[in-house]
This record gives sequence, structure tokens and C-alpha cells, in this order.
Amino acid sequence: MYTDLKLFIDGKWLGVEGRNSEDVINPANGKVLARLPHAGKADLDAALAAAQKAFPAWKATSAYDRAKIMRKAADLLRERYDHVAKVQTQEQGKSYAESRAEVMTSADIIDWYAEEGRRSYGRIVPGRVAGIRQLVTQEPVGVAAAFTPWNFPTLTPVRKIAGALAAGCALIIKASEETPGGCVELVKCFADAGLPAGVLNLVFGVPAEVSEHLIPSPIVRKISFTGSIPVGKHLAGLAAKGMKRATMELGGHSPVVVFEDADPEKAADTIAAFKYRNAGQVCISPTRFYVQEKNYNKFVSRFVEYAKGLKLGDGLEKGTTLGPLANPRRLDAMESFVNDAKARGGKIQTGGSRHGNEGFFFEPTVITDVPDDAKIMTEEPFGPVAPIVPFKTFDEVVERANSLEFGLAAYAFTASGATAAAIGDAIQSGMVGVNSVMISTPETPFGGIKESGYGSEGGIEGLQAYMNTKFISQA
Ligand code: NAD
Repeated sequence: MYTDLKLFIDGKWLGVEGRNSEDVINPANGKVLARLPHAGKADLDAALAAAQKAFPAWKATSAYDRAKIMRKAADLLRERYDHVAKVQTQEQGKSYAESRAEVMTSADIIDWYAEEGRRSYGRIVPGRVAGIRQLVTQEPVGVAAAFTPWNFPTLTPVRKIAGALAAGCALIIKASEETPGGCVELVKCFADAGLPAGVLNLVFGVPAEVSEHLIPSPIVRKISFTGSIPVGKHLAGLAAKGMKRATMELGGHSPVVVFEDADPEKAADTIAAFKYRNAGQVCISPTRFYVQEKNYNKFVSRFVEYAKGLKLGDGLEKGTTLGPLANPRRLDAMESFVNDAKARGGKIQTGGSRHGNEGFFFEPTVITDVPDDAKIMTEEPFGPVAPIVPFKTFDEVVERANSLEFGLAAYAFTASGATAAAIGDAIQSGMVGVNSVMISTPETPFGGIKESGYGSEGGIEGLQAYMNTKFISQA
């Protein structure tokens, strides 16, 4: 069973009656799952007013009491994990096992922020003259507005919701219209945990209309967006007009560097599993593979073997390890990447085509012999296509890895401590995994540099993103 899709404004669930609405589609079979209501201007104004009204009392609630409600929401999410995971798989496509892991991690993120909210310490700075007290304190920024995409229906919203609530902010979130159910279920957990009305509001609609209404509102003091670079630049511009703080988690094109002293087969197993997670529709997905010549053939053949072993299918079916792409736009994009690569001499080692005649499936694909200026090497693939190319020297691969305007995630494999330290320092990226793909945890900052955006979610940085620093000098 899927879920009943509603808006959540001022503590009330609002359905399609009297509102514009749209179908939500199951990408595994193209069938309609449910109808999603759109918030009209009056709904958005009601959400703004509710958040504005709720903010002072939530700010005044102690971090200790805020944490109690948040931890209850986390517990409810854990209790409901099976249903929420099935909702996500139906609307987004990822396998049930991946969905379940996403839900459990989302609960952990709520717990992390709930606890960290209790540690938003200030400091006392010694004054220059006797009798002065200098305090640095942290205050919630106010009402925040968040916008999330379709690839992680629960995980991406929860980072914004939990960060904002732990800091003492009220929030209006516009989650993805294509995968709304995960966020509806998440918000239900907060509502059922006793969150006061208006502190958290959930809306859907025409994305540009919603963001252009919410961001310029004087009530909104902070925005947080996850999605594509062009949309991020547009929303950052809207925020800048009102001098509003913004966190931008945008796209990436993550290089993977496999040095000749690494075990090529172990590296291939680790990184291929990570590559095909959520069919490659992950902003930190490894997307450009540079392998030092000595290791190249072994790495490619093991990677191809892994890709061939994946089982495409409906994510709810037992044994499925690769679900469909989330929407038909990604299918068209994959064909365009593959066609461009072929036209430039690329060799398809496996995959390369759509799969089946129902749903939005694309085969796990490996391409070799592509030049560095091929589309797949320069534009974010956001799908199950992996280009693998050889390199000769450390300096050469660093230059190639840093040559794009993206800077979100990067990965490297080496047996040398010195090379591990050198590559970690040399790569221009917000996150670097060396012999590890564990770069996204509740406790650590997650965010990009260059065109991949600014600000962090997760870690103490994720809480600070929703807080203003205030200096009080008291004589
Ligand atoms: P898109 O650029 O149309 O949309 C990206 C996201 O932004 C969607 O969720 C969309 O609803 C939202 N959006 C679009 N216009 C908006 C607006 N004016 N105001 C508020 N939200 C708005 O692209 P798409 O086809 O959905 O995805 C294509 C590309 O987006 C991918 O190739 C990838 O690069 C990027 N993307 C990144 C992430 C991420 O996690 N960073 C997630 C999804 C998509």
C-alpha cells in the first residue's frame, strides 16, 4: 500500500479538495500511485503565518524539551520503517533494502540533531577593560524554507527538518512532487510525536511558483536547497535579493582515483557497489574513474563483472539489486551520454541501453576509451553509467580530477599512507573518501565547494547553518 498524500499546514493535513493536483507515478511500471495536492498562494501564506506564529514559542522551548519530541519522532520512524521503506521504493524506484537503510539513517539523523541541539554552546571572551562581560551566543535564525529533490525522499528532507528544529527554527519544506510520500511519512512522525502546530509545515506545488512565493517573503530568514546547479543558482539569487542565509547542496561529478599500489579488485568491488546505489542517482555517486595503468585491466574486468551481476527489477521484488531510474528524463539523459561517448570512440563494456518495455529501467553500464571532453566525463551523469579511463602519474590525475567546476565528493584507493595524505590534500572537493566510501554520516559535515554549492548539512556545521551568532558586550 502507498500513502495518502496531503499538505501539512499549521498542524492540519489538507487534501486535494479544491486544489490543483498531480499524479505520482511508480517508476517500476509507470502506473499512478496517488494524487498529490498542490498548495495555492493562500496555502503558502497560511504556512508562512503558521511558521511565524509558532517560531517564538519553539525558540523559547529548551533544547532539552525540543530533543524529547525529536527523539520520539525518530523512534516512530524506526517503528514504521517497513511501511515508509515500501512507500519510498514505490515512488522512487530504489530497492527495498536501500530504502530501509535510508529510513533507518534518517532516524539516526534526527537523534544526532536532537542531541547536538543541546550542545549549541556560546562562549565568554575576556574583555579589554575591567568590568565588561563579552558573550558570544547562538540563536535560531527564524523561519526557514527548504526545497528537496526526488532521489532521497526521506533522507534529504530529514537533514533540513532535524537541523532546523534542533536549532529552534520553524520550517516550511517543499519536498519533491515526484517522490512526496517519504516526506509525508516523515512529517507524520513529527506530528505524532507532539510537535506544536506551525513549527513544521509541508507543501507541494509548481516548484518555481512555491520558491518564488516563499523565498522573498520577509518572514523567511534562511533557505536550504538540494538539487541541480542551475536551480540552485536561481534560488541563491532570490535569497541574495533579501540578504537571506542559504545552504546549497548541488550536483557533483565525483572522481575516483585508483593508484597502482591499491588492490584493484578490492577497490572495484567497493566502488562499483557504491556507484550503482540508487541507480547512480546520488549527488556523491562516483562518476569518473581514473585507474593507474598497471591496475587498469584488472579493475575494469572486475567492475564489469560486478555490473553484470546486478539484478534489475521492481525494488519491492525479492532479489532486486538495481531499481528503475526515477523518471523518464533520466532515461533520455543516459541515452544521450552513451550516444555521445560512442560517437567519440567510447567502448561499451556492458549495458548501454534501456531495459524492458515497462517502467524506466536502464542497464548498468561501463564505458572505456572515452576522451576527457566527452559528455559523460564533464556533465553529471546522475545514472548507472560508469566511464573508466587510465592515468600515468599523480600530478596528471590530480589535474584531470580538479579540471571541472564541481567539488562535492571524491574517492581514492592506495596502500600508501603518504599517497593517501597527498591525494586527500590535493583534490578540490568538499568530501574525500580515501580507501573508504563513508563520507555521509549524521555526525560529519556534508557539503560541496565550487559550483557544487556552499554550507554543510550534518555534523555541528549542520546545526550552525540554522543559527545566528550574536555578540553581547555587557558593562
Ligand atoms: P531540475 O533541475 O529540473 O530539478 C532539480 C530539483 O529542483 C527537483 O527536485 C525540482 O523539483 C526542483 N526545482 C526545480 N525548479 C525549482 C524551483 N524554481 N524552485 C524550487 N525547486 C525547484 O532537474 P531534474 O530533472 O529533477 O534533475 C536533473 C538534475 O538535477 C540531475 O542530473 C542532477 O544533476 C540534479 N539533482 C541533484 C540532486 C542532488 O541530490 N544534489 C538531486 C536531484 C537532482
